[in-house]
Amino acid sequence: MRLNKYMALCGVASRRKSDELIQNKKVKVNGKIIEELGISVDENQDIVEVNGKIINLEQKNVYILINKPEGYVTTVKDQFNRKTVLDLVKDIDERIYPIGRLDYETSGLLILTNDGDLTYRLTHPKHEIVKTYLARLKLVPDKIKIKQFESGLKIDDYTTAPAEFKIIKKEEKQSMCEIKIHEGKNRQVRKMCKAIGHPVLSLKRAAIGNIQLGNLKVGEYRHLTQKEINYLK
Ligand code: URA
Repeated sequence: MRLNKYMALCGVASRRKSDELIQNKKVKVNGKIIEELGISVDENQDIVEVNGKIINLEQKNVYILINKPEGYVTTVKDQFNRKTVLDLVKDIDERIYPIGRLDYETSGLLILTNDGDLTYRLTHPKHEIVKTYLARLKLVPDKIKIKQFESGLKIDDYTTAPAEFKIIKKEEKQSMCEIKIHEGKNRQVRKMCKAIGHPVLSLKRAAIGNIQLGNLKVGEYRHLTQKEINYLK
């Protein structure tokens, strides 16, 4: 695109004022002062400096909600070459990454973004947004176990904060349970369930706060709505 247009999109000045900056020898492209008007730059490759400062296009923030399948990692790259959730996202140019983690074997709601501020706030330990999981557990926990789960368990070197636990369906040797926690420590739900003697057989995240996975199919994704973005911020 034309250099003056690029400068304007970067928020430097209007196109006309950008032309003046060019004529006043204040603009460099790839280290070389530009004097003539009307040259083009490649916004993905050329380095443009104005008054000695590199300018960049303003970042467009992107917020994607994906239904992560089991068998995918939630890192951008994997040292063992396993599939990552980013392999599922095809038409997004921005460099997005997951907010927080889900285990390789866990499925469900994961948010991907390039918004560093939101990532920082949502993953900060002080942030207490509730996360809802559907867990298939071995056998059916009794009332005492559920109370223990809800009031706090000693795991590794910490005690878990109050949590919620509800049995949704009892089966012969399994149960489907809804679990709500406010923390996000490594494999926390799995460790908590194991601690009460009912290991997780499968785990899916159904919601973050009031953002729901809904009926999004496994492996599919959608953009968050403006209302959902406002809610998270
Ligand atoms: N808790 C877990 O144990 N695993 C997850 O993936 C998420 C929460």
